[in-house]
Amino acid sequence: MFASRAVVSILSVVPLALAAQQNPVADWPPHSRERPTPPTVTPGSGGVGATPPADAIMLFGGGQLDRWEGADGGRPRWRVVDGAFEVVAGTGTLRTRDAFGDVQLHIEWMSPKPPRGSDQDRGNSGVFLMGRYEVQVLDSYANVTYADGQAAAIYGQYPPLVNASRPPGEWQSYDIVFQRPRFDASGRVVSPARFTVLHNGVLVHDDVALVGPTAHQRRPPYEVHADRLPIALQDHGHPVRFRNVWVRDLELKRQS
Ligand code: MG
Repeated sequence: MFASRAVVSILSVVPLALAAQQNPVADWPPHSRERPTPPTVTPGSGGVGATPPADAIMLFGGGQLDRWEGADGGRPRWRVVDGAFEVVAGTGTLRTRDAFGDVQLHIEWMSPKPPRGSDQDRGNSGVFLMGRYEVQVLDSYANVTYADGQAAAIYGQYPPLVNASRPPGEWQSYDIVFQRPRFDASGRVVSPARFTVLHNGVLVHDDVALVGPTAHQRRPPYEVHADRLPIALQDHGHPVRFRNVWVRDLELKRQS
């Protein structure tokens, strides 16, 4: 008797709690300056320098950009320098030659030192899963911007739980677990895209569900797309560097 009453009370409470947790995006317009910025946390030693597990695909290990191409499918026009590669302003997006769906992605990045500019105009780039879903790259060390656009934000939707940024000129890491959206035959979203993200080894997104592709100043709805698409990096005009990029293809794991 007691047990069944307990079950009923849990069932009546949990859906409301989940609904409140899962829909924080709608509470704030895109890029609201009123939205609270997350607390700053100095990261520990986690994240940077992680060597890939044996089943990872190395997308950049310090050599050439042979697993990458320009947005037009042509050769990469970013520059390789000091075991890293760097955005060359005006050359456009860089993307992987291979396409991916669900992945675990490790990527390291460094914003320019000395820093230049402020707000969004400072060390801006981005990691776009499937070319559509951006984890923001920005110099957010002592640099205030809107909460859903700072480093490690799911751009325009979710601020990170904390600001775990390192100073410009120091390497930082993202470890990203991404699940692609699923669509049914009629194009309806069966399950949204989801992100779990660690910034410098610190959890900043815990399985958040996206309301659609990320965008500037708007929240467009999902559009049906392929199950596998390239991972893209943004040319936002700033010489941000990347290195130690590797990916585990989670969908191939499930099939094997
Ligand atoms: Mg960006």
